[in-house]
Amino acid sequence: MESIELRGCSLDELIEICQEMGLKRFRAIQLFQWVQQKAVRSWDEMRNIGEVDRQTLSSHLHFHPLERVREQRSKDGTRKYLFRLHDGETIECVLMDYARTMTRDRHTICLSTQVGCAVGCAFCATGLEGFRRNLSTGEIVGQVLDITHYVRQEDPDFQVTNIVFMGMGEPLLNYEQVLKAIQLLNHEQGQTIGMRRMTISTCGVVPKIIQLAKDNPQVGLAISLHAAQDNARNQLVPMNRRYPLASLMEACEEYTQITHRRVTFEVALTSENARQEEAEALVRLLKGQLGHVNLIPVNPVVGTGMERPTSEQIKRFAQVLEDAGMAVSSREERGTDIDAACGQLRRQWEGE
Ligand code: SF4
Repeated sequence: MESIELRGCSLDELIEICQEMGLKRFRAIQLFQWVQQKAVRSWDEMRNIGEVDRQTLSSHLHFHPLERVREQRSKDGTRKYLFRLHDGETIECVLMDYARTMTRDRHTICLSTQVGCAVGCAFCATGLEGFRRNLSTGEIVGQVLDITHYVRQEDPDFQVTNIVFMGMGEPLLNYEQVLKAIQLLNHEQGQTIGMRRMTISTCGVVPKIIQLAKDNPQVGLAISLHAAQDNARNQLVPMNRRYPLASLMEACEEYTQITHRRVTFEVALTSENARQEEAEALVRLLKGQLGHVNLIPVNPVVGTGMERPTSEQIKRFAQVLEDAGMAVSSREERGTDIDAACGQLRRQWEGE
């Protein structure tokens, strides 16, 4: 039997593996709960599984928790993690809303889905590095499990409530692994994170948007739009050359028809594009869409040449959209004192 990644296994797969090894079904359930619910990081912590069975299982299942290379804590409660994978590659993920919210009702993790990214958006530190590889299901889920493990050392009741697939990589270019990770994170014997509390953010991989609507109509969709006209978007988001705005808007309409869910359109604002004409073009483009616009003032990233707009520019831009009856929010700045924009911590660490 070939060695299989433990954290990427569904409960059904573990039941089958246990049966092949002559172990009872309840062992698979115990194993699944230790890994997916209690977020343990070693075989030794699985106290109700006897040593002989642990040894049998570990000879067929490999268990590679992520190695925490660095953790940064922002004054606003954001925590950013740099994790090393078993092959030495590194990824980032961010825990938002912690510490700040004493109500403890919402803890969001921004997950990575690839090492590097092939899309190469102009404003993105991850894109500057190019694509290295896809993350496995276990590595995607592992980010939630390991952050949960570390935070529970200080706060035993800690529970992640929301997930955004918005970290390093384009999630829809690692579709199968991301979908399986969503099933695992949602599982009633795992982290039980509601499907509707998970959002996939994509730069616009049109065929996969439609497939997602059909495969999992519960999961939220966010589009990294950033520009309302093809010539500008081609420069910012190279995926637009393959799937221009007309096809992207059609896919979003189909998504809302199937799922009845509204799409979030993310717009990174720089000092360059936060202009009246750009806002008006956005109003024209999104007319008729069941959506909501989220404005994101860019964090300054060395190497991208982008500058942050002034608060006055942001306000004026939002006003144009609101005057046209659109739902608009402006993403709060989080963790600017700790390089929280995707890819920045990894670049800084690799450069040392
Ligand atoms: S913004 Fe997302 S899709 Fe674009 S380069 Fe960065 S990680 Fe890739």
